[in-house]
Amino acid sequence: MKFVIVGCGLSGITSARLLKDQGCEVKIFESRNHIGGNCHDVDIEGLHFHKYGPHIFHTDDEEVFEFLSRYTEWIDLEYKPIGRTQIGDIPLPYHDKGCEAAIGRTLDQEEIKKYIFKDYSEKQWEVDFEQIPKTITNRIPKTKESESPTWFEGQKHQCVPKEGYTKMFERMLDGIEVVLNAGQEEWKQEVCDKVIYTGRIDQYFNFCFGELPYRSLRFENYPTMDKQDVLVYNECNKENEWTRQYDHSYFSPNHSGETIITREYPKSMEEGDIPFYPIPWGEGQDMYLKYEELAQKEQSTIFLGRLAKYKYLDMWVAVKHVFLKFRRFSV
Ligand SMILES: Cc1cc2nc3c(=O)[nH]c(=O)nc-3n(C[C@H](O)[C@H](O)[C@H](O)COP(=O)(O)OP(=O)(O)OC[C@H]3O[C@@H](n4cnc5c(N)ncnc54)[C@H](O)[C@@H]3O)c2cc1C
Repeated sequence: MKFVIVGCGLSGITSARLLKDQGCEVKIFESRNHIGGNCHDVDIEGLHFHKYGPHIFHTDDEEVFEFLSRYTEWIDLEYKPIGRTQIGDIPLPYHDKGCEAAIGRTLDQEEIKKYIFKDYSEKQWEVDFEQIPKTITNRIPKTKESESPTWFEGQKHQCVPKEGYTKMFERMLDGIEVVLNAGQEEWKQEVCDKVIYTGRIDQYFNFCFGELPYRSLRFENYPTMDKQDVLVYNECNKENEWTRQYDHSYFSPNHSGETIITREYPKSMEEGDIPFYPIPWGEGQDMYLKYEELAQKEQSTIFLGRLAKYKYLDMWVAVKHVFLKFRRFSV
């Protein structure tokens, strides 16, 4: 059985590996000039540069972790940003002890919203905080009482691949043909039994119900010898337009020499931008349901991954979705 896979990100690569190992023929078409999708990193003289934002792998799922561990060793890395707020630097995720040590007092629920979430969220989504659904803005941090929580509190594995994501992907793709720089519809010329489509679902259906809304990002990179004190600063203020500032040296702790500090600026989508974040409320969600209905009628295409599902997926979830589809696939 032959599969054409559209997209060489984590979802496409995992699908290709599972199917190839079950005896299927697979061929991947990728429109970018590299593998790995948004998890792609570049090795700059031993510095693992995360081109599309900082990616920390985290999971409790042993099946997913064991699978990826066949292709990489890991470096433990906990995500504990510092929030730069109007009232001082506060360790995140919010916890009373850290806040007390940092600014001499704790914050109540309203203050947490005001000083930690409001400005950050308004920059991220470019809407008034009040317009963001309460299901999102009312999320109470579960870490108030913790001693020194990580962003992914409680998850057993929190790490990055020792030699970078791209090296891991290269190993996963062993023996698999990948066409890079492919035209958006080039995959249609390949004869196959089934297509696995990990691109934008609206594009697959020629935007017949309109274009799904996304937020995008712009990155500014600063090479420097000065390492940052923490991996990430969250800019929980309106003084600076960026939302995060991070130091790539934390992804490759044995690297010495110049690092790169990156500032991440949220922006609206323009032509040529990468669709980073689906907007989890409003008209896009209704439009997606219409596309999903069409997708369910497509007999020979399987839709997987964040762009086809129009949903933010953590990496482990993207892998798990593929497992649920193909773990027991019978040829
Ligand atoms: C800023 C940011 C930070 C993140 N940090 C984390 C983190 O710390 N931890 C975590 O677990 N997750 C994180 N994620 C989520 C992670 O990026 C996703 O889980 C992962 O990228 C999903 O992989 P995917 O293959 O579904 O999508 P993608 O990585 O987007 O891959 C899809 C690929 O398909 C290609 N493509 C699309 N259309 C076509 C076409 N027509 N023809 C050919 N190719 C096509 C695209 O070029 C792309 O390479 C983060 C996401 C963002 C945006």
